[in-house]
Amino acid sequence: MTNDSGKRSRASGDRRARLPAVDRLLVDPRVEELLRRWSRRVVVHAIREALDAARQALASGAGGAGDAGAIVAAVERRLARLDAPGPRRVVNATGVIVHTNLGRAPLDPQAARHVAAVAAGYCDLEFDLDEGRRGSRQAHVGPWLEMLFPGQGVLAVNNNAAALLLALNTLAHDRGVAISRGELVEIGGSFRVPEILERSGARLVEVGTTNRTHLADYARVLGREASLALKVWPSNYRVVGFTREVPVRELAALAADHGVPLVVDQGCGRLFRDAPGPRDDPAVEQLLAEGADLVCFSGDKLLGGPQAGVLVGRRELVARCARNPLARALRCDKMTLAALSWTCRAWLRAGTADGPPPVSRMLAVSLDEVAARARRLAEAIAALDDRLEVAVEHGDGRVGGGAAPGFAVPTRLVVLGVRGLGEQELLDRLRRHDPPVVARIEAGRVVIDPRTLLEGEDGIVLSAIRAAVVRPETGERANAHRRHDA
Ligand SMILES: *Cc1c(COP(=O)(O)O)cnc(C)c1O
Repeated sequence: MTNDSGKRSRASGDRRARLPAVDRLLVDPRVEELLRRWSRRVVVHAIREALDAARQALASGAGGAGDAGAIVAAVERRLARLDAPGPRRVVNATGVIVHTNLGRAPLDPQAARHVAAVAAGYCDLEFDLDEGRRGSRQAHVGPWLEMLFPGQGVLAVNNNAAALLLALNTLAHDRGVAISRGELVEIGGSFRVPEILERSGARLVEVGTTNRTHLADYARVLGREASLALKVWPSNYRVVGFTREVPVRELAALAADHGVPLVVDQGCGRLFRDAPGPRDDPAVEQLLAEGADLVCFSGDKLLGGPQAGVLVGRRELVARCARNPLARALRCDKMTLAALSWTCRAWLRAGTADGPPPVSRMLAVSLDEVAARARRLAEAIAALDDRLEVAVEHGDGRVGGGAAPGFAVPTRLVVLGVRGLGEQELLDRLRRHDPPVVARIEAGRVVIDPRTLLEGEDGIVLSAIRAAVVRPETGERANAHRRHDA
C-alpha cells in the first residue's frame, strides 16, 4: 500500500465513522417534512439506503459527501420517486405504431374514460342488472365481439398467448398438434410456440420443412398422431424464396375430412379485409370464412385495444374453452373488459368522428396529412432556437408489435439536430423530459415521426426540444435518472 492510498483510506474511514445516525436524521426539519407525507417505515428505509450508499462510496474512495445535508438530499431524491409510480406516460415519436415496449396501443379516448370510471367505482362486472342476480363478465364483451364477427362464438382472455394456451389445453391436451416447421415462431423472446404448446399439455407434431410444407405432410399425421391442426401467422418474419405453405382453405378442408379442428394463431394483422394495414396479412374474418374453426388474436395488436386475447370461432369449441378451469386463471379484469367493449364500439362506429381506435387511425391517415403535420412541427421547432437544424424528409414507419416485418408505412420524418450536441445526447435529453419523448436515430440523426404523435403531443415534443437545447442537463441528473431506470 502506498502512502497515498493509506492516507485516503484513513480519511474515508474517519468520515465513515462520522456518518450521521438514523435517529439524528429523523429529527432533521427536512426529514420531518418527509414524515408528514410518507410512512415512517419508508422514510427510515430510505435513510438506511442513503447511508449504505454513502458508506460504500466512501469505502471505494469514490468520495461523495457523508454529511447530514447530503444524506437528507439523497433521501429526498429517493422518496421523490414515490410521487410517480410507473408505468409513466411517454410520447411515442418513433413511428412504430404498435410499439410493444411502449405499451402497444393507446386506447380510444372514450374507452380510456370508461376504464377510469369503472376502476374508481363498483360496476356490474358479474351482476345482471335486469334480473338482479349473478351475471357473466363475458357478457360485457361477448355481444360487442359478436357484432364484429356475426355468427361466431367469442371469448376474451388476458392476452393472445393465453388464448392460444387455453385453446390448445382445451382441445389437444395429451394429444398431438400438427404444425409446419416454418411456423415454429418466437415472438418477443418470451413467447415461443413450441414452448406454449408443450405447457398446454399438447404434443408437438412437426410437419414439412422450414421453407416448404405441403398438404400431404399434414395428411400423413392428421387423425393419427395429431388431433388438431395449428397454423401460426409468422408475425415478425417472412420465409421468402423457394417456399410453399398450405392455404387455410385447403388445410381446413383436410382437417374437416379427418374430423379434427383447425386453430389459427393470427396474433396480429387485420380484423377485416378493408381495415387499414399490411395487405398480405390475412384478415380474421377471412380466416373464418376459409374454414378455420378457431382463430385467436391480440386485443392490442389487432383491435388497437387493451392487452387481451380473443378467441373467435365455432361456438361449441369456444364454449369448451370457456368451461376449462384454466379460463378462470386467464380471465380479464374489469378494466380490460371495459376497454375492450369500448374499443369494439369504436370499431363499430368506424368512419364516424370517434372511431376506429387511434392505432388504425395512425395507419390510415394520409401521407398528405402526415406531411402537413411534419411541416408545421418543423417550422415550430426551427423558431425555437437558432442552434436547431431541422428538415422534413421522406421515411418509413413501422406497424410494430412484431407485426408485418416487410411492411413499411411511408411517412414524413422531422429530422432534428442541435449544433454542438451529439445525436445520442439529444435523444437522451428528449427521453429525460417530463413526459419523456421517445424518438429514434436514423442514419446518425434524430428523427421524429409525427404519425405516432397523438393529438396535442406536438406541443410536448416542442417543449422537450426547447428544454434539450436551452437547459443542458448536468451529468448528475442524468446519472440519477439512469440509476432510477435500473
Ligand atoms: C403477438 C403474437 C402472440 C402473442 O400475443 P400477446 O397478445 O402478446 O400475448 C402470439 N402469436 C402471434 C402469432 C403473435 O403475433
